[in-house]
Amino acid sequence: MTEILHIVGGGMAGSEAAWQAAHMGVQVVIHEMRPNVGTFAHQTGNLGEMVCSNSFRSDDDEQNAVGLLHWEMRAAGGLIMSSADQHRLPAGGALAVDREPFAETVTARLRAHPNVTISSEEITGLPETGQWIFATGPLTSPALGEAIRAETGAEALAFFDAIAPIVYAESIDMEKAWMQSRYDKGETEEERTAYLNCPMDRDQYEAFIDALLAADKAEFHEGETASYFDGCLPIEVMAERGRETLRYGPMKPVGLTNPHQPDAKAHAVVQLRRDNALGTLFNIVGFQTKMKYGAQTEVFRMIPGLENASFARLGGIHRNTFINSPTLLDDRMRLRARPNIRFAGQITGVEGYVESAAMGLLAGRLAASDILGHALPTAPQDSAMGALIHHITGGAEAKTFQPMNVNFGLFRPVEGLKGGRRGRKDRYKAYTDRAKSAWQGWLEQCALDAA
Ligand SMILES: Cc1cc2nc3c(=O)[nH]c(=O)nc-3n(C[C@H](O)[C@H](O)[C@H](O)COP(=O)(O)OP(=O)(O)OC[C@H]3O[C@@H](n4cnc5c(N)ncnc54)[C@H](O)[C@@H]3O)c2cc1C
Repeated sequence: MTEILHIVGGGMAGSEAAWQAAHMGVQVVIHEMRPNVGTFAHQTGNLGEMVCSNSFRSDDDEQNAVGLLHWEMRAAGGLIMSSADQHRLPAGGALAVDREPFAETVTARLRAHPNVTISSEEITGLPETGQWIFATGPLTSPALGEAIRAETGAEALAFFDAIAPIVYAESIDMEKAWMQSRYDKGETEEERTAYLNCPMDRDQYEAFIDALLAADKAEFHEGETASYFDGCLPIEVMAERGRETLRYGPMKPVGLTNPHQPDAKAHAVVQLRRDNALGTLFNIVGFQTKMKYGAQTEVFRMIPGLENASFARLGGIHRNTFINSPTLLDDRMRLRARPNIRFAGQITGVEGYVESAAMGLLAGRLAASDILGHALPTAPQDSAMGALIHHITGGAEAKTFQPMNVNFGLFRPVEGLKGGRRGRKDRYKAYTDRAKSAWQGWLEQCALDAA
């Protein structure tokens, strides 16, 4: 008999991981603490419960990276996608679902699977032996959180995310912005030009502060604590502490010379830092925020150079348990120091129902392949699944790692295509065509392995 695969957490990731591994012929035990132990957001004891919105976002698999993940999961016989399709609600181009029957279907299908056992218990430590996937999500129980922290180190586990907005590099106006590190610090040319700078004069700064103070802010969910660490205060809270606070904080203008206007001293400077190895994404340094999404795009487009910015993701601060995957996980999602332990879902630093289910799908297949003695490689980098896993286990900057949605900025460029807004439609189609063919190739390899 083959080894049992233990999966901790029966949310989006754990349910999908169990389904995939069980289909590959591996015996699976899902350890889910609900309904015995609850979280502040879950309401039921069902597996695959959606804790907030009932949307899986865009279902467009040609022009949208989330829609492409839907496509890849459908092609892999995913439980979350097929249950979502069964309980689909009309929502234009989005995939919205009737949440209760959806979760009941996920639960019933897993209960009915001959290779799956469900055990209602909280797991509070990382076992030394056996094959385990931890998919305990943003609301991982405190006891387990402590155990993960003890194993990985305090720096490697976060209990809040503090996400600054991320901008597509190609949408930044380089006639206004320039590349330079403060005081030209750094040993190499790359280090000396590591930051992208957007200058403001006094009037622009004052208008920006007014807009920040007036913007609509989102509330914390009930049960989420509203105490921020001082190191990750939202910019609007900094602005409330005094109109000059940002000018002495993340927007200080010192050590920088604007090559477009060398004689004019900027009153304030917004800095952006590279967010991935590909150099396609930049985050706005120190700009974590609780502004509502609509307000964020309006306010951030007031920054000179970002008037036409496209955002790969907007900012936020939430209760969220996640590990520093770039330093802790290998590309097969195993803890480098303890390869019998895998992580999957939101705890790995992806964000959202779809991304979490996708990482569950991959972890379930990779764990089952290890148990069965097959050497299945991880997902190809050109697929949406591969772009995401590559980002969280290697492509992302480890020092500033924050949770990430799937987006086209994570994909390697397709050579020979026009950049900018004009070429976007063709570019996205090329990404999705290339991804589908890479993903199909990987699925064929999975099928050959199983034969
Ligand atoms: C308040 C809130 C609102 C959100 N809103 C949205 C939204 O609108 N849209 C969106 O896409 N994403 C949203 N998210 C993120 C969302 O939670 C994730 O995208 C998704 O649910 C993550 O899937 P997962 O499987 O990683 O975790 P989950 O779906 O949370 O599943 C983790 C499971 O592990 C269980 N568990 C935890 N600790 C233990 C333990 N020690 N032992 C056993 N079981 C354990 C939990 O009970 C849970 O069932 C929200 C998150 C929060 C906290």
